[in-house]
Amino acid sequence: MAEPMFDRAFLAARAVVDGAERSCVVAVRDGRIAAVLDLDPTHPADSVAARETIRLADGEVLLPGLVDTHVHLNEPGRTEWEGFDTGTSAAAAGGVTTVIDMPLNSIPPTTTVDALAIKRDCASAQARVDVGFWGGAVPGNAGEIEGLHAAGVFGFKCFLVDSGVPEFPPLDRAGLAAAMAETSRLGALLIVHAEDAELIAAAPAPGGPSYGRYLRSRPPAAEERAIERILAAVRDIGPPRPRVHVLHLSSAGALPRLRAARADGVDVSVETCPHYLAIAAEAIDDGATQFKCAPPIRDAGNCERLWEALVGGEIDMIVSDHSPCTADLKRRDTGDFAAAWGGIASLELGLPVVWTAARAHGLGLGDVARWMASAPADRVGLAYKGRIAVGADADLVVFDPEAEFVVDPSRLQQRNPVSAYAGRRLAGLVRQTWLRGERVDSSSAAGRGRLIERGPRE
Ligand SMILES: [Zn+2]
Repeated sequence: MAEPMFDRAFLAARAVVDGAERSCVVAVRDGRIAAVLDLDPTHPADSVAARETIRLADGEVLLPGLVDTHVHLNEPGRTEWEGFDTGTSAAAAGGVTTVIDMPLNSIPPTTTVDALAIKRDCASAQARVDVGFWGGAVPGNAGEIEGLHAAGVFGFKCFLVDSGVPEFPPLDRAGLAAAMAETSRLGALLIVHAEDAELIAAAPAPGGPSYGRYLRSRPPAAEERAIERILAAVRDIGPPRPRVHVLHLSSAGALPRLRAARADGVDVSVETCPHYLAIAAEAIDDGATQFKCAPPIRDAGNCERLWEALVGGEIDMIVSDHSPCTADLKRRDTGDFAAAWGGIASLELGLPVVWTAARAHGLGLGDVARWMASAPADRVGLAYKGRIAVGADADLVVFDPEAEFVVDPSRLQQRNPVSAYAGRRLAGLVRQTWLRGERVDSSSAAGRGRLIERGPRE
């Protein structure tokens, strides 16, 4: 008998291909998608010559593996907050097959070529999904940017306000201009935490357990002013036009400025996060520091405007901003929003959280896959990730969109059982995750994820 043509074939009555659902057979060879064929109901499953056939159950949908470009894995240095083993296990359990690790909260931060090498050493043996790295732009490291770019980072992150950790300071006006000039010269993405330090310093200070007081300490105007500053810096630099990206947009009030800049040809993209789309400030109890993040979760009206911007294409993507810490640092004992660490961990829950809310808005899995897989992949130049298409890596998720569950933080794969979604009922279960054609199984030894670099696949 002849050798089968394919290693595996996934038979799916429902699969998300090119942003829409269809029935198909996804055939895999050597870790890549080799063919997307029509599913012929009159032919038996084994008519596709594959060593192994995976037939999705009724109601299950085949999705591309998600690409999460905003993840803090914190190793080395704050490995007790998260790490490559637990963080990438959470990713796999949540249907995320590619993560790009943020340059801060680990020690060292990824602001030098040497630090990048240390991070890669830590990640390589532990990663269960594919892992890439952002570099950092901090005061005084403009001379490192070219080396980090050559070493394959996906771009450079900077802050315009205190980052929360002392080893990753913000850029001032001159620092932002210098970093942007360098990333622009190299054609690299500059990604920005857009909150303005002066406006936050002028706002009432947070303190105690009042969520309203915390919310007033980081007003929408701080986001809007910071975005204005970034767009002004882009215009000052001129050609070659910088490529910039606004991280975790919370305030819908910034959208008109972004819309106008894009109409002017500014190369700016925008992300938001599951918590800004699924949680409203009105529902956050005083002392509930599991909801603290920066910029903060705003009111329900703002949340609806973010959804409209996603649907209208003004927000490009949804990424987790998975930023965990140890339970004690959330200060649940005092509920003090000023003292608690700001960050929400959702690598494993992002897909069901977004799907549950998207479904309630009458949106489909094609939209969700675009926002959480192909759009982030495209923005960082990973044309071979985040899509069910011939030639792409066979990163696939078997998803049951109707199955429901209640979030139990102690059952999550992340290192610390702290979740803003504890006790929530969500729709959408990840049944299987496949990375380059191989099943990712959290019970097996760590590893099998690869370290990836910016640019075409080798
Ligand atoms: Zn972040």
